[in-house]
Amino acid sequence: MAVATPIQIRFERFDGRLGLAPAKPPRTVTALEKPALLERIRGLLKQRDAVLVAHYYVDPDIQDLAQETGGTVSDSLEMARFGHAHPAKTIVVAGVRFMGETAKILNPEKRVLMPDLAAECSLDLATPADQFSAFCDAHPDRVVVVYANTSAAVKARADWMVTSSIAEKIVAHLHAQGKKILWAPDKYLGDYVQRITGADMLMWNAACVVHEEFKSQQLRDLKALHPEAKVLVHPESPADVIALADAVGSTTGLIQAAERLKAKTYIVATDNGIIHQMRKRMPGSTFIDAPTAGKGATCQSCAHCPWMAMNGLHNLAEVLETQRNEVLVDPEIGRRAKIPIERMLEFAKTNLPTFKGSGDA
Ligand code: SF4
Repeated sequence: MAVATPIQIRFERFDGRLGLAPAKPPRTVTALEKPALLERIRGLLKQRDAVLVAHYYVDPDIQDLAQETGGTVSDSLEMARFGHAHPAKTIVVAGVRFMGETAKILNPEKRVLMPDLAAECSLDLATPADQFSAFCDAHPDRVVVVYANTSAAVKARADWMVTSSIAEKIVAHLHAQGKKILWAPDKYLGDYVQRITGADMLMWNAACVVHEEFKSQQLRDLKALHPEAKVLVHPESPADVIALADAVGSTTGLIQAAERLKAKTYIVATDNGIIHQMRKRMPGSTFIDAPTAGKGATCQSCAHCPWMAMNGLHNLAEVLETQRNEVLVDPEIGRRAKIPIERMLEFAKTNLPTFKGSGDA
């Protein structure tokens, strides 16, 4: 695997240990106020002609609201597809900023709102558009493939955008045409795709703070305690963790794999927000978080994304009420960023995504 020189990863808005402001959790909802708050959001979604599009990693109450009000809970590929196809004038994205930007790029005529615009992603933060552009300029012979977890400006510099559910197919497609690839930003997903496809891939050097923390030795120890358990791993995890998986896949792929494997116990190596949907579909099974570094010195996420956790019921109600927190994308950047996104969506129509054991579709 060819990896670019490490860049300075900027966690200014995340890593409190560097003496900088951490991601701010949303206001707590008490059991007493929750029913009225949920009712208020249901009413506001109707009044505002809005649809709620949520990621699997957000608060279970928001996931349930999205499903019961005709929105969706899904991975970033399906979030993009769904918001694009839905007739609502306003899309409320409960996720992180790049997801809101993707919705806006695909729907420039619609209003896109987010409960908290400061919900970031470590992959996005680690890929500043100016540095990335210089990296691309230095390798003009390569097709630029970027993961969805990037800013609009980075996507505007790309030939293709991919999500984890379709990355392998698209890279294999390019490799079959003899193309060399410049890949960004997730080095672990890139490494996984490179090993499967055999493509020539030059990697940007960034990682997801949630998935990078999963530890293979601790996972082996946990498997020894639960020998019957099946291990589900997202490919943003390190290679030695992926090697222990019974199924590797995108979030949607992992849910489908769990349904197919029909095990009593699962160990889940992705953000633990996904377990809500797994429990709903398989109420008789037990789901255990894969081990991270623990709550001690090196654990930054403990299997839950600090930025996904910024989506709460109070700030969701507030943005619907006030129409603040609108996602805006420079129209020219949006026009250019739309090209690699639409290329992926077009490709996805005829190429079903797959991952090892995931049953992804
Ligand atoms: S879980 Fe990782 S990849 Fe997903 S938004 Fe959070 S930091 Fe980014």
